[in-house]
Amino acid sequence: MYKKILALLFLVVLACTGCGKSEDELVVNNLSDIIVRGKIIVGVKTDAYPFGYIDNKGNYAGYDVALGKLIAKGLLGDESKISFVPVTASDRVMKLYSGDVDMLIATMSVTPKRQEILDFSHSYYTAGQALLVKKGSNIKSLKNLSGKRVIIVYGSTAENSLRAAVPNVGIIGYKTYPAAYQALKAGKADAIISDDSILLGFSLNDDSVKLLPKRYSKEPYSIAFRKGDESKDLIKEVNSIIETETRNGNLRRIQKSMGIR
Ligand code: GLU
Repeated sequence: MYKKILALLFLVVLACTGCGKSEDELVVNNLSDIIVRGKIIVGVKTDAYPFGYIDNKGNYAGYDVALGKLIAKGLLGDESKISFVPVTASDRVMKLYSGDVDMLIATMSVTPKRQEILDFSHSYYTAGQALLVKKGSNIKSLKNLSGKRVIIVYGSTAENSLRAAVPNVGIIGYKTYPAAYQALKAGKADAIISDDSILLGFSLNDDSVKLLPKRYSKEPYSIAFRKGDESKDLIKEVNSIIETETRNGNLRRIQKSMGIR
C-alpha cells in the first residue's frame, strides 16, 4: 500500500509542478486527493445508535465510526487522520456528490437502484428490516399494517419497500431515527419500519416498545462512493482494508463490543 501511495503522490506532484500533464488533463483520483490532503472525510450517522451516534462526551461513536478509523489507519497509517461529517438517510448522497465527504459509512444498504448512481465497497454487515411497535400492540407482522399509520425515515430503503408491500398503508416520514421513535411513543403511528440493527437500540433501552421477530429484507451495509473511475483506486484500497479487518477478527470484535449481533 505505501509503495502505491508514494507512486500516486509522485504523480500528483509531477502534475502540480507542471512537469506532467496540464491541469485540464489531470485525472481526478479520489485516493490521491486523500493522500495529498492527509486525512479522510467520512459521512456518518449521528442518529443511528449503535452504528453512528454522538456519545456522552460529545464524540462520534459507533461501529461505522470505528470502521472509518480503521480505514484512516489503513490508508494513511493513523486512525486519527479522519474528519466526520454528520449525514442523514435523506441528505447523505447529496453530501457525497457535493464533495463534502469522500465516502459514506452510514448504515447504507446496497440496492440495485443505488448502484445506478453510487459505487459500493464490500459489505461489512447485514441487517434486516423489522417492525418496532409499542408493547401491547396487536400488530404482529406487515400483514396487520393495512389501513394503519407507519413511520419511515426519509431516504431509507424501508420508505420504498413499505409502499410496495402494503399499498394502503398511511406513511408518516421523519428525518431522523430519534424523531421517528418519539413519534411512535407519542402515539402518532402504529409502528416504525426500519433496520433491526437501528431499532434494536431503542427496544433495548425502553420497555414500552418492542422489536417484532420477523425480518423482511436483507440489508447489506457497504461504504458508498461517488460513481466512476475516480473512485476505483480508493475502493480497491478500502476493500482490501475491509478484507484484512474481517480476516483478523477486528470487525467482529468491534461489533461484539457494541452489542451488535
Ligand atoms: N439500511 C437502510 C438504508 O440504507 C436503513 C438505514 C438508514 O436509514 O440508513 O436505507
